[in-house]
Amino acid sequence: MQYCKRCVYPDTKPGLKLDESGVCSACRAVERKHEIDWESRALKLQQICDEVRGSNGNGYDCIVPVSGGKDSFYQTYVMSKVHNLRVLCIVVMAHLQTVEGIENLNLLVDKLGVDLLKISPRPSTLKKIRRLAFLKYGNPNYAEHRVMFSGVARAAYFNNVPLVVWGEDIGVEFGGNVSTTSAEDGSAQELINNDLFRETGFEELLEGTIPDEELFFYMYPERETIGQKNIRTIYLGFYDWWDGIKHYYLAKSFGFQKRKAGLLPGNAIAYDNFDEKLCEVGAWLKFIKLGFWRPHDHCCYKIWNGYMTRKEAVHQVNKVQYDFPAYLDEFLEYHELTETDFFECVEKVRNHEIWHKKNGKWRLRKELTNTN
Ligand SMILES: [Zn+2]
Repeated sequence: MQYCKRCVYPDTKPGLKLDESGVCSACRAVERKHEIDWESRALKLQQICDEVRGSNGNGYDCIVPVSGGKDSFYQTYVMSKVHNLRVLCIVVMAHLQTVEGIENLNLLVDKLGVDLLKISPRPSTLKKIRRLAFLKYGNPNYAEHRVMFSGVARAAYFNNVPLVVWGEDIGVEFGGNVSTTSAEDGSAQELINNDLFRETGFEELLEGTIPDEELFFYMYPERETIGQKNIRTIYLGFYDWWDGIKHYYLAKSFGFQKRKAGLLPGNAIAYDNFDEKLCEVGAWLKFIKLGFWRPHDHCCYKIWNGYMTRKEAVHQVNKVQYDFPAYLDEFLEYHELTETDFFECVEKVRNHEIWHKKNGKWRLRKELTNTN
């Protein structure tokens, strides 16, 4: 495992590559962002909005998938207030919402004056799929990712909505491997083929244990079906410099609140990913499998947007990366797992190429320092 010289990501992150200078593909993408003519991109977005505004009769002009977080506020604000589109927000209901998560989502709908469609897949099925995805792949959040992508596509189809606006292109922003199309024209049409979605075979995961009729919202519509409608799918981050901290201040101006109890264990900011309780353990499993998690994500973002030096990031990551994630009890209860089941699974997915025991404690073989 090698770390990027400029940010704090290790090259064990899927899709991330270090070049001969030791700088990662995500940092190189940030460099390229400085050369982009953002004014002409903003004009392009304006054109798209002009094309779709009012084109769906009395229906919605645009779908914005949301969670209720700071980025959701920003996306919804830009589409509804700046571009004056009739926005339908879509959320996949979290299993265990936090109070702040509920309040922030309500605030978004109220203050930004949009409608919200909630997709609540039946809990028994969601629970089964999450449990399987955890036990087999150590990736319980896989189920929600599927519902989000498929549910948004289905909602756009049913409601004849001509435009879907995702937030950031995870490929460009995080150095993954999303289709190059998105990098060329901001289209997220190929989103369904990206790594996040394909990470594991769905049928292979379920092994026929769940009847098809319970899986409607987990299945992406057939290409031929969805192709009949002219639905344009874009990433807002292609047209507008993506800066989560800027988004937080915008959201805050509408009353958005950060986590009342302060930082979650292992986190470096208190205003991201706190709207539900089960995702923390899911995020931490990335650390076990890939050697990075929340603090790396948070600090890289700060470095890229000029809010933090690498030295500060190294210090911050080292301070919290070995924290144990919050809400383990809730995680165990929700998935009907014992602590023994849980830790057996953790050890099953632990990557021994990057982890070793040191003085009886699991530690990364290669620690992040100021000089690596
Ligand atoms: Zn980097």
